[in-house]
Amino acid sequence: MSKKLDTITIDDILNQLTYLKEEEEIKKIKEAYLFAHEKHLGQKRKSGEDYIIHPLNVALILTEIYADSESIEAALLHDVLEDCDVDLTEMEEKFGSTVMHLVDGVTKIGQINFSTDSDYLIEYYKKIIVGMSEDVRVIIIKLADRLHNMRTLWALPVEKQKKKAKETEEIFAPLAHHLGIHRIKSELEDLSLRYLKPTVFYDIAEKLNKTKVERDKTVGDMMNEVGELLNLHHINHEIKGRAKSIYSIYNKLDKGKKFSDIYDLLALRILVDTEQECYLALGIIHSKFRPLPKRFKDYIAMPKPNMYQSLHTTVFGVDGYLFEIQIRTYAMNEVAENGIASHWAYKEKKDASRMMQNTTEQKLQFFKSIMELSQDKMSSEDFVKSVKDEVLNNNIYVFTPKGDIIELPSGSTPLDFAYRVHTRVGETTVGAIVNGSIVPLDYELKNNDIVKINTNKNAHPSKEWLNIVKSTQARNKIRSFFTKSEKEVFIERGRDLLEKELRKMKYSITEFMKEENIKVVLDTLKLSTIEDLYLEIGNGHHSPKSVIHILYKEEEKEEKEEKKIPKLENTTSDIIVSGIDKIKVNLASCCDPVYGDDIVGFITKGNGISIHRSSCQNLAMMADRLIEVSWSDKKESKYGCDLVVYSNTSDNKLTDITILASKLDVNLSGVKMISRGNNTVYEMQCFVKDLPHLQKLMKELEKESYIKSVERLMR
Ligand code: MN
Repeated sequence: MSKKLDTITIDDILNQLTYLKEEEEIKKIKEAYLFAHEKHLGQKRKSGEDYIIHPLNVALILTEIYADSESIEAALLHDVLEDCDVDLTEMEEKFGSTVMHLVDGVTKIGQINFSTDSDYLIEYYKKIIVGMSEDVRVIIIKLADRLHNMRTLWALPVEKQKKKAKETEEIFAPLAHHLGIHRIKSELEDLSLRYLKPTVFYDIAEKLNKTKVERDKTVGDMMNEVGELLNLHHINHEIKGRAKSIYSIYNKLDKGKKFSDIYDLLALRILVDTEQECYLALGIIHSKFRPLPKRFKDYIAMPKPNMYQSLHTTVFGVDGYLFEIQIRTYAMNEVAENGIASHWAYKEKKDASRMMQNTTEQKLQFFKSIMELSQDKMSSEDFVKSVKDEVLNNNIYVFTPKGDIIELPSGSTPLDFAYRVHTRVGETTVGAIVNGSIVPLDYELKNNDIVKINTNKNAHPSKEWLNIVKSTQARNKIRSFFTKSEKEVFIERGRDLLEKELRKMKYSITEFMKEENIKVVLDTLKLSTIEDLYLEIGNGHHSPKSVIHILYKEEEKEEKEEKKIPKLENTTSDIIVSGIDKIKVNLASCCDPVYGDDIVGFITKGNGISIHRSSCQNLAMMADRLIEVSWSDKKESKYGCDLVVYSNTSDNKLTDITILASKLDVNLSGVKMISRGNNTVYEMQCFVKDLPHLQKLMKELEKESYIKSVERLMR
């Protein structure tokens, strides 16, 4: 195969850079170009072109997603460390430490030694993780690098073509997908198919070509009709006909569909200004074109884990053809095409790289999963297998009761879900409710299931669970529960708590964990290692928030000001708050204090004081906002509280329990039964006068022969 030589120059790049505002940035990019040009002088690519053509093209690809000047510089320089006699010190002196780190990161990912299959894959994954943790721009530059190499793959020998194409299909295209950079993902997939299965590729391309004229006409007609309809309702919009990628058609054919059956070959995309108009447009279209049942998807209300948002529907369109229609705002479209890189187009350039890093750590479930996998101790082969199974392939999406999406490998059970939400949730799981019904713990979850986990603070994992769970993550967590000492459990919990709090407070974890930052924290707390720090958090000696505040003091001030908030409200109360009269108090629903319990108050943000039992586990995280409280002699008539009753029989003893409770003048409401083999667990809400009343009930229940134990529930 031969090809016209590429004639790109630095001016082609500079012409694209009108989106950069600072003259200084352009100057630096020119310097980077001159440096790279000089260093690559005399080197040729396999295609016969001057080597500099390659970095220029990588930079050009990046301008299409509005990359910042540092990334463009790094793209131009990305091959000089490896191919020319340049070292990191020289690079840093000339171009600064950020550009040096970007180039270094891209170079490291490139230096993979090929040996056996899984060895080189694990190398790749690990370097990609490191690259992403340090600066996600490293990965984006690497993707652009790979894209240009794939575009010029024809110049390599067939053996190498196959190897690169396979790598691209297995690693880089999924990576682009998980970062949401659709335009790069799609081209990478098509190019890898072209070299892996050329016959299939050209067959589909030809079929598409043959039907093109007819399809274009049909799509054009439909665009006109839909356009008129939206104009009639005064909705500003833009409609685009949409070409399906060859790879996505191949995927459907591979699943057994015939070419003529792939109805979303005809596809439209409608762009509007506001989210509201998306739904409006959808309604208007459905009122004229009958939708195909079950093909409607609302990814606006429920974005995909890579942040993609859009409405999807399939309708019977003009001439009875089926059309797949996507409706989204211009902003959503930017994210749909460029994913994580869309920060470049929308944010102040200065903030974009920080925003991208934060988004990577906080929003991309893929990144979190892969980070977790890399922290687990497992063999290289297991690691590669888990990354492939859990991160790259075949996932199902289920929801928490609050509507958060959780991504799990298909075949997962409620236990996998529980461990994915949080290790602590997994370890204390006693039952699961899916779509409103109680299910056994080995129930196989399906797409769109809504999953609620019932936990009990005193419950712990059973070895049985190892046979139930599907995800490596859950399996490893269960295994380690049985092998770990208590200290290790605390250390792990401490790390979890700290990372969770950092995410909640919207700080970058990587930034916080930098050596110089951690040193400040350790010195302040007079600790010597990071493990000590985790231990101190895990065992409750320090709250994660107070640790974070050591570094980020400004936020602390804001917090403290909020502390003064408690508004004095005219509330008569059964609680006395020391030093303050008439303040709004409420009983915390996590531990349900009843009259007579040892209690402590927590100053909430703007909602008075919430009363917890002194033994409540949630208090460890609130240490800096607690206040002394006590019961007054004004008793309410009833206090609600949850009991968990463990019975040793599978017989339904609900009636007996109800009768016993009513004899003691305790009202029950909302009893949940969870069957566990030969045992049954009852979770019930009861209303009692005070602590002695509650204790009496618990004692009487425990006297029954069919009851093993009774506990108060703490969430
Ligand atoms: Mn390169």
